[in-house]
Amino acid sequence: MNIQRRKTRTCTVGNVKIGSDHPVAIQTMTMAKSEDAKAVIAEIKTIEDSACDIIRISIPTLDAAKNIPEIKASTEMPIVADIHFDPRLAIAALDYGADKIRINPGNFYDRSYLEKVIKLAKEKGAAIRIGVNAGSLEKDLWEKHGAPTADALAESALRWVDFVEALDFKNFVVSIKSERVQVMIAAYKKFVEADNDVPLHLGVTHAGSLIPGTVKNSMGIGALLMQGIGDTVRASITDSIEKEVEVCKNILKAIGLYDKEADVIACPTCGRLEVDLEKMLAEVEAALKPIKRPIRVAVMGCVVNAVGEAKESDYGIASGKKAGALFYKGELFKANVPEANLVNELLELIQEKEQIKL
Ligand code: SF4
Repeated sequence: MNIQRRKTRTCTVGNVKIGSDHPVAIQTMTMAKSEDAKAVIAEIKTIEDSACDIIRISIPTLDAAKNIPEIKASTEMPIVADIHFDPRLAIAALDYGADKIRINPGNFYDRSYLEKVIKLAKEKGAAIRIGVNAGSLEKDLWEKHGAPTADALAESALRWVDFVEALDFKNFVVSIKSERVQVMIAAYKKFVEADNDVPLHLGVTHAGSLIPGTVKNSMGIGALLMQGIGDTVRASITDSIEKEVEVCKNILKAIGLYDKEADVIACPTCGRLEVDLEKMLAEVEAALKPIKRPIRVAVMGCVVNAVGEAKESDYGIASGKKAGALFYKGELFKANVPEANLVNELLELIQEKEQIKL
């Protein structure tokens, strides 16, 4: 089932385009102090060959802003400067060449700067993310709604869209974040009901450590993407940036929105298992890393469910007692392959059919 994406205009961030005419872009945010350019660059190197498209760095001081050129020169990925409270840092980040700035206009201590920031972004060809969350919700909307409800957050976001567009600036995306999955989903849905074509950055904020964070982001980001809503994603998880990128990639992959690698499925194993499936799975996953196309490969433990799953996939192993069968495009390709040869024969089959060298 193909997802019909909500039609948006395009926001250009350096060499990456965000919007419905482009693949959903994956972002993460470095954790090193941005005043230490070498540490940030070393962190970025850890995801240089990953699925990440865009890097965000915090800019809490002028010294951090001054490092933007050095950090930008170290990577092909566009750099987003994350600014809170002080609009002068947004101006500095743009002057130092940030491809995009993330601001929550609601938390600027002096909003009279906002117009200057928008005009400077336009002049520099930079993009902006307009962020809305509970922490930056305007006082009058708190009073009107009594809490940072989905209605309040969506109303705030739409208000800022009007403000920015009145300055004839269109190169921006909007995020409407909450740590509560239902609020986040409802807020984005209310925003899109207003019928605009602003590209959307999705995320569940403060989602927690790896497992709860992955679950919350998968539910929030995944639910919206499934409805065609969302153009760039960041899974905020208290773990490494590599893990954040992996989570984003796997959310997209699970719903057919990431086509630059193989999808390897496997059974969870149970007492019927007669082979070392974990070892086989690890070998298959490692061997298929160079594949940059969306083939589906099933590594199954026994014939109970395996034949059906293996047949649903492009390639499959259905194991048995110390041996197994190979499937190709829904048909049995070879039976009674000894366990020791199963992975190799699967990989040989993939190489032959895909015309690639692994
Ligand atoms: S495929 Fe077989 S081994 Fe794997 S979980 Fe299902 S029944 Fe168990």
